Amino acid sequence: MPDPQRPADRNIPQRLATPVQYLRGVGPARVEQLAKLGLHRASDVLFGFPRDYQDLTEIRTIAQLEPNRELTIRGAVEEVELRQTGAGRTILGVLIGRDAQYVRALWFNQPFLRERFQHGQELLVTGTAKRTGLVWEMHHPRIQWLEADAETPRGRMLPIYRLTEGLAQRQMRQIVRAALDQFADMLDEVFPPDFLESHGLWPIRRAIEEIHFPTDPAGLDAARRRFIYQDLFVMQLALALKRHQQAVPQSAPAIPATAKIDARIRRLIPFELTADQQQAISEVALDLGRDRPMNRLLQGDVGSGKTVVALYGILTAVAHGYQAALMSPTEILARQHYATLEKLLAGSQVRRALLVGGAPAAERTKLIAALAAGELDLLVGTQALLAEDVKFAKLGLAVIDEQHKFGVRQRAGLKNSAGTSPHYLVMTATPIPRTIGMTLFGDLDVSTLRQAPPGRQPVHTYLASPSERDRWWEFYKKKLRSGRQGYVIAPLVEQSEATGAASAEEMFEALSNGPLEEFRLGLIHGRMSTEAQRHVMEEFRSGKLQVLVATSVVEVGVDVANATLMTIEDGERFGLSALHQLRGRICRGSFQGFCCVFGNLDAPAARERLEAFTKTFDGFELAEIDFKQRGPGSILGTEQSGLAPLRFADLSRDTDLLTEARIDALALTAADPHLADPRFEKLKTMVLRRYGASLDLADVG
Ligand code: ADP
Ligand code: MG
Repeated sequence: MPDPQRPADRNIPQRLATPVQYLRGVGPARVEQLAKLGLHRASDVLFGFPRDYQDLTEIRTIAQLEPNRELTIRGAVEEVELRQTGAGRTILGVLIGRDAQYVRALWFNQPFLRERFQHGQELLVTGTAKRTGLVWEMHHPRIQWLEADAETPRGRMLPIYRLTEGLAQRQMRQIVRAALDQFADMLDEVFPPDFLESHGLWPIRRAIEEIHFPTDPAGLDAARRRFIYQDLFVMQLALALKRHQQAVPQSAPAIPATAKIDARIRRLIPFELTADQQQAISEVALDLGRDRPMNRLLQGDVGSGKTVVALYGILTAVAHGYQAALMSPTEILARQHYATLEKLLAGSQVRRALLVGGAPAAERTKLIAALAAGELDLLVGTQALLAEDVKFAKLGLAVIDEQHKFGVRQRAGLKNSAGTSPHYLVMTATPIPRTIGMTLFGDLDVSTLRQAPPGRQPVHTYLASPSERDRWWEFYKKKLRSGRQGYVIAPLVEQSEATGAASAEEMFEALSNGPLEEFRLGLIHGRMSTEAQRHVMEEFRSGKLQVLVATSVVEVGVDVANATLMTIEDGERFGLSALHQLRGRICRGSFQGFCCVFGNLDAPAARERLEAFTKTFDGFELAEIDFKQRGPGSILGTEQSGLAPLRFADLSRDTDLLTEARIDALALTAADPHLADPRFEKLKTMVLRRYGASLDLADVG
């Protein structure tokens, strides 16, 4: 809901909060309709921007139409035809003509529009036309009905609002007009005049008028720019303030990786580091050598080799007599990390332990005591590390794996008796497009592992139709017989875990009694106890089970080198990043991986996504595609990020403005770290209102 632009203790915002019933021309019936649209107060109407516009600044004749360009023409209804084309499917065709030229307007599955067209009616039609035979065709154009013999309205752009039953576009426009006339003068400008000027931003009063009733496309652009910029700038300012706030009071132990330490650590690493790993390691080492907390995101595709970078940091901390923590989102992952580290640290004196949820009480008590006494160097585990009684004596480095599965704020939850803050290294295998990184991790530095370690082969990936199922299973079985193992992934519908688990169960039943009956199958999903999950995982790892039927619980990090086969069912239900993570499970070893995706390919967007998945093995590229198609939520839910959703900006579209806003916010806070300048007081109030709580900014004020 749009917030009024000033604190509630002043008069003006109270007036902006005036209930809509006091708007000119709004009676009780309208109040109800507006409420359905979430419009309760005058400010809601002012900030309920049009969802689209009908550009009447240039009206053409039908003869002047061009393909693939949105244009407006005037004509009259000649013919209306509603056809049934299948169960519940209809096509409404309206033939619109003038001077013996015709356009056919088509609406799919909106039969109710039929009543709105009458023979002879004059209208303006805006849409993108296609030539089909002799007639132009427009799909779902926008219509402006004209009074008979009316002059064609020229030189305007008409706003198109979201509507509800009984409320017509024309009436909605009148309500907005009334709100602008009665209340727009009370809107408060958050930017000082010289800021507006130097940043080429329109004042709020002018922008709000223009965004509802644009004079021309250029004016609309300028108005939009103002609101989008403000949205992004306020967010970037919040992140910048947060950064300054953190930078000031906290100190961390300086734990430089001296030449001696460096050499000792490198001796433990059994392979040649990639150039990206070298780079990331030197960035981490540089941060650790400073006496303020490292705040670094290490991102790298599945299998890019993040673990050794973390290990380097861990061992540096330990070498200086500090403790290190490694926290994973699931028990499977925590155990796996622990096993990996056990191998690497076999010959070392690092005192280490694993702490997960269900640890036996006696063991746990002993472990916590050792930790608090500083008798443990490294603790690996799950969220169990965040428990109140788990206290580190001298925590120097906290490594957090797949942080987006936890949420931004939890890293603060580790308890440390030392008077300093630990350094933080956050790892993610979900590649984060640059814009998201800037936005959500604006307070983190980023190291990226782009290249895979040598010898990694991309997985052969196929997109298959149901008719190819038998052939795929033949291939799968052949590989199983030759000693490989495989996964079968059933969808986990995010909204309902129950469905996902049931589907995996169904798959398990169907395969055990069908195509894969001669093999040993296991089932794993998130509704099983962790103990049961661990048992199944162990059996799969040891080769006792040949096939693992799973939900996306195996998405992150599960590492079984002999598993090289994967079937993914209902692929369209997964995001590309998730699919790529899943596929990453079968390129862990030296054998070629094969992945086959089945799915519903009716929707062009789904087909396009899955085709991209078969064609590229670059997780960053796939993340970008996901991001463009499905928005930031495809990578990090706003809920998880802890940030208020943006109101007007779209991170996948407004990349340039985001960069601009970020630079401006950094410049402003560099000069004025607490935004103390009274000229920015209103802006600061807005920042605190929107982000104060989620970013713990409250004490900036
Ligand atoms: P991530 O955590 O980024 O998915 P890991 O750290 O688990 O990747 O590394 C994946 C696999 O690649 C591990 O088996 C690891 O031992 C191996 N590996 C990592 N770096 C290298 C390298 N530079 N050369 C060869 N193998 C490597
Ligand atoms: Mg890993």
